[in-house]
This record gives sequence, C-alpha cells and structure tokens, in this order.
Amino acid sequence: MAKTQKKKEKEPDITFFHDDLLHAPADGSEAFLKGWKCKKCGQLDFPKLTPCPNCWGSEFEMVPLSRTGTLYSCTDIYIGAPGMKTPYIFGYIDLPENLRIFAQLEGEVDTFKCNETVELTTGTIGINNDGLPITSYKFKKVSQQ
Ligand SMILES: [Zn+2]
Repeated sequence: MAKTQKKKEKEPDITFFHDDLLHAPADGSEAFLKGWKCKKCGQLDFPKLTPCPNCWGSEFEMVPLSRTGTLYSCTDIYIGAPGMKTPYIFGYIDLPENLRIFAQLEGEVDTFKCNETVELTTGTIGINNDGLPITSYKFKKVSQQ
C-alpha cells in the first residue's frame, strides 16, 4: 500500500492580540490594556514604542491602564477593509493617563456620542485568512445598571 503523503495543513493565523497590548486573564477577571512607561524618562505610551520616542531609552515598565475613558471621536465604517464585516465603528478614546487610544467600538452604529464614557472589553475585531475570528481589545458603552 502506497504511503499517502498528507499535505501539511496551513498553520492558522494568530487569532488573538499581541501580548504587549492586552492582559486578558484566562480566569475571566477583568482585562486591561498594557501601558509602557520608559524607565529613563517616564514617558507612558500605548502601544509600546521602542526605543522610547522621547529619550531613546530601551527599558520599560508595564503599567495597567484605566479600563474606562472618554470617547473623543468616532466614525461608522460602511465600506470596510477586506475580511471586516460591515458596518463597524472606530473611535479614539482618551484615558485618564493622557493617552488617546484608537480602537474598535462594540455596539450599534449611530449610537455613540463624543464625550461619552466607554469601557474596555474584548471581542472579535475581524476574520483572519483562515476564517477564524481575531479577538482583541474594543471599547463599549458603560453598561447601564
Ligand atoms: Zn524615555
């Protein structure tokens, strides 16, 4: 019997965020974005910029960032990038740490307003080349109790 040469299956693309961006505990406790503070000059950045754009330092300390921020601006996207199911929403979120974060917003289009408070969540931000969901950080409206 001829040995059948099984074609090696393609490795799946990365389906989750980069480890420098987000801490999402497996135990389901609250996730946070990772800020990176330069050990030489103290500048805080997200995402991590290396070397430090202020002093060229190369050592950083991880600082958990606030989970809530203020929506600075947002836009609904109806003609999306390949692999992105439309419509989706992008926004800039200002955190208390004086960082402006670019992220997808989770929720219905045409419902977000500038200056509203949003909070961190995780969810699908797109589909990779293998048809698998790419999970990463997003922001959503603060849940009403
Ligand atoms: Zn620095």
